[in-house]
Amino acid sequence: MTRVTLPAYGWDSDWADAFVPYEGTGLVPGRVVRVDRGRCELVVEGAEVGDATGGEAAVRTVRADTEPVLGSDPRDTPCTGDWAAVDTAPASGPVVRALLPRRTRFTRSTSSARSEGQVLAANIDLAVIAVSLAVELDLGRLERFLSLAWSSGAQPVVVLTKTDLVPDITHLVSDVEQAGPGAAVFPVSAVSGAGLDALAAELTGRTSALLGQSGVGKSTLVNALLGVEEQEAGPVRGSDGKGRHTTTTRDLLLLPRGGLLIDTPGLRGVGLWEANDGLSQVFAEIEELAAHCRFHDCEHHAEPDCAVLAAVEDGTLSHRRFESYRKLLRESAWIASRTDARLRAELSREWKRREAAGREMYERKRGGKHRKAF
Ligand code: GDP
Ligand code: ZN
Repeated sequence: MTRVTLPAYGWDSDWADAFVPYEGTGLVPGRVVRVDRGRCELVVEGAEVGDATGGEAAVRTVRADTEPVLGSDPRDTPCTGDWAAVDTAPASGPVVRALLPRRTRFTRSTSSARSEGQVLAANIDLAVIAVSLAVELDLGRLERFLSLAWSSGAQPVVVLTKTDLVPDITHLVSDVEQAGPGAAVFPVSAVSGAGLDALAAELTGRTSALLGQSGVGKSTLVNALLGVEEQEAGPVRGSDGKGRHTTTTRDLLLLPRGGLLIDTPGLRGVGLWEANDGLSQVFAEIEELAAHCRFHDCEHHAEPDCAVLAAVEDGTLSHRRFESYRKLLRESAWIASRTDARLRAELSREWKRREAAGREMYERKRGGKHRKAF
């Protein structure tokens, strides 16, 4: 077993600074590797008790309670990736006393009346969005993932999976690049191994999270990224699952080349997300166009001298992308309003009115032929 230290889990001088207030209190820093109903698992400094390797590993895993100290706000609940100040002294077991301020956070809006978003994962540097090339590209969905990633504070990258199934990926790659300005694209195949090295290099030394729809190949990708370790680290682990224990029970995985991968079921399925802040980055060119609208608060529905609608008209901006932008804007406004029934009702009325106005304008231009509003 190689020596694993806290820095391998992402501990750096900035985290050390953030921990200063807890120094001398007997608390130790730890990173959450898994959360499980009010308890969480963390790695903290110190040899594993009864460690078969003779205490060589410099981190150990502890299970800690969180509820007694942290409030009822779900945002304060530890999530995978969090750094915490842990009290290992209580006879009843370790307790998380505080969370260090998060650098980035992935938040899911809760469907319940309780309005605060639930934080699903924290302190992610890279949001790895997996998209399968085996099915038709859904750029709208990709844009949604990208918005979510940007608004979390993480840098998004796109991984195009199953390249072995597509003879020529050139156009697909360029479509994806256009949908996600600022996000690097990594075509990979877990079958042929193509592109895996470049991706692994990108993940080195950072905390990444894997996002993407079910079936796109995330599990396969995780195994491929971790599989490298088994070859490089020497003997293949036993098939009894014992050797794999640490990787299968955690949501925060150590990558063989250094770096961490967060793969939690909660992050995988994307429902409605708080993606508002990220929209301007994903749709940068639309925001640029909007600067040329006559009204500075133009909402690009049916306003006169709207540069965005003009770009859609002359084909500079694709209908698909414009529609995706509006849909995501609308969704995030809806999420923002979910605590406020009156605001929600107002929004709903307003959208109906605008849709009708937009449809009318569109139909007028198209000679009255009935079409779906763009
Ligand atoms: P997940 O739901 O995103 O975790 O997807 P899985 O990893 O379970 O993969 C879904 C299916 O795609 C499985 O049948 C995989 O064998 C297959 N798959 C994954 N990666 C690749 C790949 O690179 N090439 C091909 N041809 N199939 C793949
Ligand atoms: Zn406009």
